[in-house]
Amino acid sequence: MIIRSIASLVLGIFCIQTLCAQNPDIVIPIPAEVIMSKGNYSYNKDPEIKVTYMRTGMREEEYELSITPKGVKIKAATPAGAFYAMQTLNQITCDGTVKEIRCCTIKDSPRFPYRGLHVDVSRHFRSVEFLKKQMDAMARFKMNRMHLHLTDAAGWRLEIKAYPKLTSIAAWRPQKTWKEWWNGQRLYAEEGTEGAYGGYYTQEDIKELLEYAQDRHIEIIPEIEMPSHSEEVLAAYPELGCSGTAYKDSEFCVGNEESFRFLETVLTEVMDIFPSKYIHIGGDEAGKEHWKNCVKCQQRMKDEGLGNVDELQSYMIRRMERFVNSKGRRIIGWDEILDGGLAPDATVMSWRGTEGGIEAMNLGHDVIMSPGRYCYLDHTQDAPFKEPESIGGYLPLDSVYVYEPLESSIPSDKSHHLLGVQANLWSEYVVSDSHAEYMYWPRAIAIAETGWSQKERKNLVDFRRRVLPALEHLRTKGYQTFDLANEYGERKLAQTGLEHLAKGKKVIYNKPIQQWYPAAGETTFTDGIIGGWTYSDNRWQGFLSDIDITIDLEDIQSINYIGGTFMQLKGPGVFMPEKVDILISEDGEEFEHIGTIWNDIPTTAEELLFKSFDTICKTKARYIRYHAYRSTMRGFLFLDEVVVN
Ligand SMILES: [Zn+2]
Repeated sequence: MIIRSIASLVLGIFCIQTLCAQNPDIVIPIPAEVIMSKGNYSYNKDPEIKVTYMRTGMREEEYELSITPKGVKIKAATPAGAFYAMQTLNQITCDGTVKEIRCCTIKDSPRFPYRGLHVDVSRHFRSVEFLKKQMDAMARFKMNRMHLHLTDAAGWRLEIKAYPKLTSIAAWRPQKTWKEWWNGQRLYAEEGTEGAYGGYYTQEDIKELLEYAQDRHIEIIPEIEMPSHSEEVLAAYPELGCSGTAYKDSEFCVGNEESFRFLETVLTEVMDIFPSKYIHIGGDEAGKEHWKNCVKCQQRMKDEGLGNVDELQSYMIRRMERFVNSKGRRIIGWDEILDGGLAPDATVMSWRGTEGGIEAMNLGHDVIMSPGRYCYLDHTQDAPFKEPESIGGYLPLDSVYVYEPLESSIPSDKSHHLLGVQANLWSEYVVSDSHAEYMYWPRAIAIAETGWSQKERKNLVDFRRRVLPALEHLRTKGYQTFDLANEYGERKLAQTGLEHLAKGKKVIYNKPIQQWYPAAGETTFTDGIIGGWTYSDNRWQGFLSDIDITIDLEDIQSINYIGGTFMQLKGPGVFMPEKVDILISEDGEEFEHIGTIWNDIPTTAEELLFKSFDTICKTKARYIRYHAYRSTMRGFLFLDEVVVN
């Protein structure tokens, strides 16, 4: 009797535990292969783990994790592989808090070798602790490169012993926020003066960070910007700019040998500290205007037989590449380094889109994809009215997740040049560390899965299921993540579309469609598709003129409502129309004016705003003319649909 009770009790516990045993289907990034087997593995304190290093047959970051009733076995070729097996196990066991797990074998390896996270420490300095904390999260999701944007106009962030003014002056500014600084005089301040805001990493700080990174199989890639985004350097060392005057230049003078001496000295110190294979040399957004009127730059172009300033930039990048190569390292540059001819060994980080990256691959260069449309986490991740101030745009988790870096136009014999993907967070509007965390997580996890998991294993619905507990975990560890469970999402009408009388009807453009934001072309205003939170979603048609259209309803209809919604976003120069005139006609010849709607939104409003310019009527017509007058502020008009009911 007693024996039977004990047996049933044991059996009962077993059954309950079977129900509770953790399933491996919560792992992010989703593994290449999961083979379930019978039984569970339970343990008291820590799971028993046996690691075997395989001499052959496994790739660098590959691992095999077997959970058996007796314990956990890990096979890998390298410590990185074993480390990733442990990350997977930590996720399944919730860091050892779940004491019973389902038996299975997981065979896993990354799709791409490069899975990066970019941190802009120039616009707002980030603490060493912050960087370490982000590396913990990166490691958990098998990201392996941290790109540190160490230098930019807003502040130089790395101690360089040969050039102390980089950190005694160029690392500090009078204003805390980038926005106040940018909208002001853009001055720098002496370290230690009252109210000086900023900071920098000492070389000792970097050593500490590098050790921390190494333990997590993360490589830190330093970026030193050149030739542009260098206002802070040229304020501290004005002799390196074309004008020779502080606060005048943003680019190094390429005609001046001193510029090269500076950059080589800086890069030598950088390479002495950072062991990374790659050194990022920037190369983006150079205006190149000063070069056109600089005697030294013009002389350089003559001496080197350079036809234009693009080639002058290319000369500089090539020369710096030779220097970096001579130290056994390689350069990465933003896709502008393609202009004027690509340096022979350079790896391209494609940000303005993917075209530059694809062009570089076709030229036989390695590429990291980080197109703004999918990978720029500085865009707002939810409905703008509920989010903190950002640079604008709308990039929710789903839009990040659906990015497929290996586009069909990439020839198969070039695809091996695609090293991977990177999440970028530019921090102009991201002042605090906690705001930065909020912008990274969960969107960086989506990029982690795109970088690691096989394309056919990815699934948005399943990812959203798995990412919720992952975020919960991060929050228990003190991360300020975005609250995905309470995501508002896209504009409601943009999600559903709209049925109305003009849907599918022909639109006559009295002023032609313009090239910049054509959306769906001539069907845009009557396709029933309502625009979302951003004008770059291909649903809003943009004009630098009036919008003046006539819709043909094909026969005379009863009409009660005519209206269209415009957007205003002051930053990039998008404004409401000054007014909208609405006219109707039965024959398309004689039009009757039935309403004028005036704008009442102030052009000074900072936030994203929408306004419907509409009229309620009781009439009959076949033709509707909708004429929006461009704002006196000039700028763009954006309209998504003209709704008729
Ligand atoms: Zn010059």
